[in-house]
Amino acid sequence: MPDTHTTDLVVLGGGPGGYAAAFLAADRGVQTTLIDAAPKPGGTCLHFGCIPSKTLLHVAEIIHAAQDAAEFGLAFDKPKIDLAKLRAKGDKIVETMSAALLKGCKDRGITHIVGRGTFVDRNTIQVDKGPSVKFQKCILAVGSIPAQLPLFDIGSKRILDSTAALHVDSVPKSLLVVGGGYIGLELGSVYAALGSAVTVVEMTPTLLPGVDADLVRPLHARLRAQLEKIYLSTKVSKIEETKDGVKAHFEGEADIKDATYEKVLVAVGRRPNTSNIGLDKIGVEIERGYIKTDAQRRTNIPHIFAIGDAAGEPMLAHKAAHEGKLAVEIITGDNGSAWDVRAMPAVVFTDPEIAWCGLTETDAKKTNRVVKIGVFRWGFSGRASTLGRNDGLTKVIVDPTTDQVLGVGVVGHGAGELIAEAVVAIEMGATAKDLAMCVHPHPTLSETIGEAAELLHGLSSHVFMPKKK
Ligand code: NAD
Repeated sequence: MPDTHTTDLVVLGGGPGGYAAAFLAADRGVQTTLIDAAPKPGGTCLHFGCIPSKTLLHVAEIIHAAQDAAEFGLAFDKPKIDLAKLRAKGDKIVETMSAALLKGCKDRGITHIVGRGTFVDRNTIQVDKGPSVKFQKCILAVGSIPAQLPLFDIGSKRILDSTAALHVDSVPKSLLVVGGGYIGLELGSVYAALGSAVTVVEMTPTLLPGVDADLVRPLHARLRAQLEKIYLSTKVSKIEETKDGVKAHFEGEADIKDATYEKVLVAVGRRPNTSNIGLDKIGVEIERGYIKTDAQRRTNIPHIFAIGDAAGEPMLAHKAAHEGKLAVEIITGDNGSAWDVRAMPAVVFTDPEIAWCGLTETDAKKTNRVVKIGVFRWGFSGRASTLGRNDGLTKVIVDPTTDQVLGVGVVGHGAGELIAEAVVAIEMGATAKDLAMCVHPHPTLSETIGEAAELLHGLSSHVFMPKKK
């Protein structure tokens, strides 16, 4: 490639936000260049996040299903785990998907440049060991990186971040997971299923802080049985490497002061990857670490847009992809487009899964919004019973005056798949009555959404509601 490359649109970052934007732009006829430091697109989600973790969570699910099968009269031996084969399978999935993305670039005529890009001025990005890219428009899709706590920076190989933990070099006898959020609980569950004695330490009084308490409760109950210990309202105050492992000192409500673990996974959040790419040099406005954008994902520099983790929470791949497509719509002249998502879904892929979208009960309380909530417990679900998984609930949150569905929350087996119906309902302005009147197939877990909606009207086939006098 020559020293200088000229393009109409440059997308910096090839994760789910960046490649979705680049693909749509090219499909709409824009001459597009995609720059990413990795040889193949896919970003953190594909290479070190969603996809590798879901591969491992699938394995954990199989192990748990085999254990749970005992109540159906099936007995399996303890699984023999071939870590090399497990890693190879994970690598193959990532390799196949990233190769397809690379082909997607090629098929669309997108110039794909491998290297780290840094802004030289408002229309030029210099690629490390690559060309200088002159552009008309830019979409920043630079993602996020794991947050580091200086406390854990003791230069020990026993201290892992999520990227290292996803590689599963070995199954430690004991693992301390610092942070009871998405990553801590997903990966903690994986290691527990593989055979580690896992302890989770979370500094707030609940797991998954911010998520509705009734959704977290069934997960907490199951984790209590699967994990060694869960310490809430507790922090690690000091950490030191000893000959046996890593000694963690606790501060807070944990009933012990210190303990030694073979390995420690630090999962205390992620931060936007906005440093060292020259944003300060060209004057891109940053707010609390995130790139500041308007409802069209335009930064303070009109021809530069920002999407995904770097542009604000929630840090979710599907939010990034949606923003990427929005930015391309604006760039290609759909000036009426703007961010108007009512129901951003979130899924924690634990066992049971937790999923929600739209207004949560927690947010309704925080903003003093009056809502009506229909809660259907899965004890009454035929499908949940046949799966041996009655430990779920589905709730539908509505506006009490209009009956319009504002939010839905689900905890239980397959919650991540179930939430899609709720997203459509909210985005289409459905009422609880609409949801109740839609025929849900029997026996499926989707019926729980219909039943929760029916409960809002005092009518449910499976829950008797005494008439008010
Ligand atoms: P998180 O914000 O979900 O959880 C971090 C947790 O660490 C919080 O509960 C916090 O209270 C706790 N914590 C912070 N400092 C602590 C300390 N010193 N001691 C003990 N606990 C401490 O962050 P994460 O789990 O690292 O994930 C990062 C982001 O990645 C998430 O916010 C999410 O947006 C995204 N993610 C999404 C998925 C998914 O969609 N399924 C999966 C993984 C990650």
